Amino acid sequence: MRLYPLFADLSGLPVLVVGGGSVAKRKAAALRDAGAEVTIGAPRFEPDLAAWIREGHVRAFHGEFEPAWLEGMWLVVAATDDHPLNARVAGCAKERRIFANVVDDAALSRFHVPAVVDRSPLVVAVSTAGAAPALARRIREVLERVLDHALGPLLALAQRHRRRIVRRHGDTAARRDFYDWLYDGPVFSLLRQAKPAQAEQVLLDALECNGSVHKEGSVALVGAGPGHPGLLTLQALRLLQQADVVLYDQLVSHEVLAMARRDAECIDVGKRCGGRHVAQEHTHRLMLAHAREGRRVVRLKGGDPFVFGRGGEEMAFLRSHGVACEVVPGITAAVACAAFAGIPLTHRDHAQSICLLTAHGKDATDTLGDQVLGNPRQTLAIYMGVEKLDELAARLIAHARDAETPCAIIENGTLPQQRVIAGTLATLPALARRHAVKTPALLVIGEVAAFAREHAWFGELVDEAATGVPPRRLVQREVA
Ligand code: SAH
Repeated sequence: MRLYPLFADLSGLPVLVVGGGSVAKRKAAALRDAGAEVTIGAPRFEPDLAAWIREGHVRAFHGEFEPAWLEGMWLVVAATDDHPLNARVAGCAKERRIFANVVDDAALSRFHVPAVVDRSPLVVAVSTAGAAPALARRIREVLERVLDHALGPLLALAQRHRRRIVRRHGDTAARRDFYDWLYDGPVFSLLRQAKPAQAEQVLLDALECNGSVHKEGSVALVGAGPGHPGLLTLQALRLLQQADVVLYDQLVSHEVLAMARRDAECIDVGKRCGGRHVAQEHTHRLMLAHAREGRRVVRLKGGDPFVFGRGGEEMAFLRSHGVACEVVPGITAAVACAAFAGIPLTHRDHAQSICLLTAHGKDATDTLGDQVLGNPRQTLAIYMGVEKLDELAARLIAHARDAETPCAIIENGTLPQQRVIAGTLATLPALARRHAVKTPALLVIGEVAAFAREHAWFGELVDEAATGVPPRRLVQREVA
């Protein structure tokens, strides 16, 4: 390791930035944020720096660099675009035993400024010792994604109660267990749920109680999105990377599952056993058993857990058994498939509302009247509809939807094998049969579905009408 990593406490210490441009401004701002007393020296200052000087946030030397500027400084940053001048600043600093950083010049720098991920009081610093600062930034971005923002409050809490923790757990091994519990258990989980007072109470209770803390499990109902791994949320990714057990559904893609922690136990609960899905009660029992054994369980569901996903039932079950449960939304099929088929679900000229429906279950659409089914200015996004297309189309036409209403089926939405099949209420059932549409597929019905014929941008578009009838003209609003 060529560089010795160190975090410096600069509060109240005088430091110098040489330069008056935007780089100098950035350096001065970071030093000020760390509490240093910043002086900036240059012949001219860019407008923000000039304002900071006027308002007294930083002091200034006006003019060409003079070695006397270094008097009494702890650090100096040379941030001009004049290489010989930067070298001179570094040389003068060395003579006076002052640490110097020359922006973008590792050879001249006595200290380097790392790329940081700030979850204060936790700070992660990344340096490549000047080898490739741009790569350090990429690595910082990776860390930015995996480090939960609730880590800041967690560390602050640990800091606030550090003395009690040390008093209570004098033994290092016991203390390490305690910190593990803090990170893995209910305290961090409560902070992620934006319940800081409760988190603190749980911590205090644990410090009061005798004996060691027992590992408590948790369950997160996590939306995996429609399949494309890039459509996973950051929070879903973080929980997957911490999970001990992942209970996943049939709709969850391999690519998404591959993002789980390497040694997490992944259990398929969407499997069809002898034609039947693993019973919901079995899933309930598995979640509970793993959580009670102190594991972090991710219940991973396609799309969003609360949209046709039985998330509500699972949450109620867990809560009734006293198991902590958080919910991470996912991009639901209607939103994802529409986007990947170029269909705006609402449009000022064509659709003012959206209805998410399922065709599954006994008489699913029976209870819906004309207001939902017949409204030509409402887009219908129908889940689990492929097997009932004839019935659905007939029902909609019976509810006064025009047989010429544009429709689109999006099969395997967002996955490499995505197909969009465009038609009308009248033609779609036959089209679906001809092209052997399979589940998972989402059905979009309404004027906006016609956009797919012109704007579908991902995967394959099947548009038989393209060779014959021109697409029904959509009104394009004139933009003033
Ligand atoms: N909770 C899920 C829906 C589960 S119901 C969500 O929010 O998306 C299962 C139905 O969702 C499927 O039958 C299909 O209609 C739809 N679906 C889910 N993923 C899909 C995909 N990638 N492409 C097309 N339809 C999908």
